[in-house]
Amino acid sequence: MERKGFQRDRGHSRDRGSSREGGFSREPQKMYKAKCSECDMETEVPFKPDPDRPVYCRECYAKRKSRKF
Ligand SMILES: [Zn+2]
Repeated sequence: MERKGFQRDRGHSRDRGSSREGGFSREPQKMYKAKCSECDMETEVPFKPDPDRPVYCRECYAKRKSRKF
């Protein structure tokens, strides 16, 4: 059996990154009504829609996200 002592130390820094994801779904966010620029469907976004930027519904957002540029 091998002892991998120094690998344990590295686990510390891993905790930092996960704290960011945890805050995402902690409390309900204020939702803003918006119209999807892709399919024209009404949707709600967790941020104030910027008229200069396209807003996407969940489906279109997921589609765009999965697509690689
Ligand atoms: Zn859409």
